[in-house]
Amino acid sequence: MSEPKATSYEMERANFHIFPEYCKGCGLCKEKCPTDVIVWSEKLGVYGTPAVKPKDEDSCIACMICEMVCPDCAISIEKKAKKKAV
Ligand code: SF4
Ligand code: SF4
Repeated sequence: MSEPKATSYEMERANFHIFPEYCKGCGLCKEKCPTDVIVWSEKLGVYGTPAVKPKDEDSCIACMICEMVCPDCAISIEKKAKKKAV
């Protein structure tokens, strides 16, 4: 079996990786995201339903809730290091 491929979106505070092959389109991540960043994607998930993606680059607060609530480990949030104050 081939490795699942992630679709990645670069955001201000994190990189959002979604594995459409794992996403069943349950919408739990959308429901739980505190800043409503997650929207349906044009990419399809494992059952032919839309997967998810972030709607913009700066609303995500990198709280990791979407990653934690996804029952199928379809989301991986890669937090970016905080920028140093100058
Ligand atoms: S990390 Fe938090 S704010 Fe960012 S998309 Fe996931 S649930 Fe929403
Ligand atoms: S919680 Fe997971 S399986 Fe459900 S829609 Fe979000 S990414 Fe897809």
